[in-house]
Amino acid sequence: MEQQHTGGARDAIVIGGGLAGMLAATALLGHADTVTVIERDRYPEHRGFRKGVPQSRHTHILLTGGQRALDALLPGSCTALVEAGAHRLDLPRDILTRTPTGWPRRFDEGRHHTLSVSRPLLDAVVTERARAAFADSTTHVEVREATEAVGLTGDAERVTGVRIRPRDGGAPQTRTAALVVDASGRSSRAPRWYAELGLDAPHEETVDTGLGYATRRYRPGPGGPPDTGVNIPNWPGSPRGGCYLPVEDGAWMLTLAGMHGDHPPTDPAEFLAYCATVGDPYLHSLVADAEPLTPVHGFQDTRNRRRRYERPGASPHGFLVLGDAHCTFNPVYGQGMSVAALGARALRDTLERTGGPLPDTAATVQREIAAVTDPAWITAVGADLPYLRDADEKRSVGERLTAWYLERLAARAALDPVVGAALRDVFCLTAPLPRLFGPRIAARTVLRPRRPALPAPPTVPEPVRASGARA
Ligand SMILES: Cc1cc2nc3c(=O)[nH]c(=O)nc-3n(C[C@H](O)[C@H](O)[C@H](O)COP(=O)(O)OP(=O)(O)OC[C@H]3O[C@@H](n4cnc5c(N)ncnc54)[C@H](O)[C@@H]3O)c2cc1C
Repeated sequence: MEQQHTGGARDAIVIGGGLAGMLAATALLGHADTVTVIERDRYPEHRGFRKGVPQSRHTHILLTGGQRALDALLPGSCTALVEAGAHRLDLPRDILTRTPTGWPRRFDEGRHHTLSVSRPLLDAVVTERARAAFADSTTHVEVREATEAVGLTGDAERVTGVRIRPRDGGAPQTRTAALVVDASGRSSRAPRWYAELGLDAPHEETVDTGLGYATRRYRPGPGGPPDTGVNIPNWPGSPRGGCYLPVEDGAWMLTLAGMHGDHPPTDPAEFLAYCATVGDPYLHSLVADAEPLTPVHGFQDTRNRRRRYERPGASPHGFLVLGDAHCTFNPVYGQGMSVAALGARALRDTLERTGGPLPDTAATVQREIAAVTDPAWITAVGADLPYLRDADEKRSVGERLTAWYLERLAARAALDPVVGAALRDVFCLTAPLPRLFGPRIAARTVLRPRRPALPAPPTVPEPVRASGARA
C-alpha cells in the first residue's frame, strides 16, 4: 500500500545526495522550511567508493570557478580539502601540459590553483560540511539514504512531489513538496518522468567524441614522486592521451583516454603498454617503476550532453534540474563538478534576490543555471568539434574561422604569459569566452609569429608579472 506524506508551501525535495544534491540542499537553507534529500545509496562509513557515483574511480580536479562557488556555499571547504590531503596545483607551474607543438613554458603565475583529490574524499568532505550546515540551520534537512526516486507527481503544469521507494523493499511512498530539484546525475530519469506527466522530453544536444577512460592508482617508485603533475591530452592526429596527478596519502592517479572507440584497456599490462603510445613518452617514463595500488577501472560514457529545461514552456512549475542531470561534459576538461557548484550557487543567489514562492522561482533559477553552464558548454563543445569525424562537412565558414583562431591561440598560450593567462581564466571558469577575443589577446594571437613550444618538459618554473585583471 502506497503511503502519502504531505509537504507544505515551503518544503523542498532534492533527488540525489551527490555533490550537486548536497550543494542544492545547502543553497535552500533559510529559503525552505524542510528539505528532504533522497539518495539511492548508503553513504560509506569511511571516505570510500559508492556505486551511485561510478566515475569517482577516475581523476577529478576542481577548477578555480568551482572552488569559488563551493566556498561561497560552504565557506572553508577548499581549505578543509587541502587539510584532508588534496593537492593545490598552480597552473601551469604544477601541471605540465603537452601541446601538439611541444611543452609550454612553466609560468609561475599564481593565478589559478586546481585542487587534485580523489573523488570519494572530495564528496566525503563536502557531505560532512553540508551536514554541519544543515545542523546549524532553521531549515530542517532530512537525508534519506537507500531510497530511490522512481517518478514525479503532478501534471504538465506543476510538479507536486516525488514517488520514492525504499531500497530495502519497504512500501513505496509519495512525498509532496513545493519544489523538487533533480540532482540525480548523468542517469537522471527526468525526461522519462516528463512523458509520464504528459510533457515532451526537453530538447537535448549531444556532442560525443567516443572517448573512453581507464584509471589506476599508484605509489611513486624508488625515484620518488615527479615534481609536477603531467597532462598529455589528445589532439588531432594523436587520439590517445593521459594524465598523472597526485591525490591524498602519497598516491598518484594515472588516467588514460582514447577517442573514437580506441579506448585504453583495463588489463594491467595492456594498460601500461597503451600508456607508452600517448602523444609523448614522458608520461610512461614517470609510471614505469611506480607501484600499482588498485586494479584498472574503465569508463565510457563521456559525451557532452545538455538538456534545455530552461526553454520557455519546457518545464512545469516547482521543478528544476542541476548538475550532471542537466548537463554532462567531456571529462578531460575537468568542468562537471565546478558547473554543479556554480548551478547550486545560482539557486541560492536567485532565491536570495527574488525571495518569491519556491515553485514560481524554479523557472528563473533554471535560466540562471543554463547561463552559468554556457561558458563550460561552449568551451568543451568548441574544443571537441575538431575531433568529430564529420566535423569539416558540418562546420560553417564562421565556425572554421573560430576553430583556426582558437588553435592558433592555444599554440600562442604555450609561450605567451598574457594569452596563456586568458586561456586559463576561460578554462578555469572565471572569465567568459569573449575574453579570448578581446583586442589585446587577438593582436598577440594573430599578429605575432607562430612558434613551436619547448622540445622537452621544463624543469624550472619561470616567474611572471601579474597581468593585472583578476582571474
Ligand atoms: C570519467 C569522469 C571523470 C570526471 N572528471 C572530472 C573532473 O576532473 N573534474 C570535474 O569537475 N568533473 C569531472 N567529472 C564530472 C563529475 O563527475 C560530475 O560533473 C559530478 O559528479 C556531477 O555531480 P552530480 O551530483 O550532478 O552527479 P553525481 O555525482 O553522479 O551524483 C548523483 C547522485 O544521485 C544519486 N541518484 C541517482 N539516481 C537516483 C534516484 N533515482 N534516486 C535517488 N538518488 C539517485 C546517485 O546515487 C548519486 O549519489 C568527471 C566525470 C567522469 C565521467
